[in-house]
Amino acid sequence: MKIFFGPSSLGSYKEAFSNLVYFKEKNLSACEVAFTYGVYLKEKEAVEIGRKAKELKINLSIHAPYYINLNSNDKNKIENSKKRILDCAKIGHFLGAKKIVFHPGFYGKSTKEETFEKIKKEIIDLNEKIKKNNWNIELCPEVMGKKNVFGSIEEISKLSKECNCGFCIDFAHILARYKNKEFELIKKSFPREEWHCHFSGIEYGEKGEKKHRKTKTEEWFELFNFLKDLDKMITIINESPYHIEDSIEGEKIWREKFSGFGST
Ligand SMILES: [Zn+2]
Repeated sequence: MKIFFGPSSLGSYKEAFSNLVYFKEKNLSACEVAFTYGVYLKEKEAVEIGRKAKELKINLSIHAPYYINLNSNDKNKIENSKKRILDCAKIGHFLGAKKIVFHPGFYGKSTKEETFEKIKKEIIDLNEKIKKNNWNIELCPEVMGKKNVFGSIEEISKLSKECNCGFCIDFAHILARYKNKEFELIKKSFPREEWHCHFSGIEYGEKGEKKHRKTKTEEWFELFNFLKDLDKMITIINESPYHIEDSIEGEKIWREKFSGFGST
């Protein structure tokens, strides 16, 4: 069992270097670069940041822009969505990031099955383009927290198997979508050895996710009690509004109370 902790943002190009050094000082070993509102780094900047992250042994991943819908009725919107993902793949490649997390799309007027088939087709096409460019990076559709949004545990599990792509298990989203932690279902659905995860506290209602909130100490304990017996390589990106301090707390709890479990 190997586990990596880190926050869900690296900061601007200028802040990135001191942030990485700070994360390292605090025993963090992962960081998700938030391209959620756009791919804000240039190639050259990405190379420099990637070099620093590698030197500090911090694994980078990317969160793609929110404006993505691979099941839009509008062909242009699908093409723009794919372009945003490919822009992430390219800069991610220069950063040395291994994963791109993204929200795959909406059901809209399609049935769940039609949505699945459409998104699957687009991911397979994206995979081919990534391969053609020799970008060493994997697409990770995320388990989503709202019932009317594509991305249940079952759908993401099936996509990962049928497209041979990665996945992002968002524990907060799962709680909001299922009103339950679904630990057994998660274990069964994602047999791969490598897990990329999001974790934070969450507020939710009937329709699912409302917003992320600070991670409570007991929530870390509950998660770790589930993870401790798994023989996996797990990355936990914290997405709370206090993602840096929450990541630091999570890592500390794991190291002090759980790190003796499983094979390290
Ligand atoms: Zn996300």
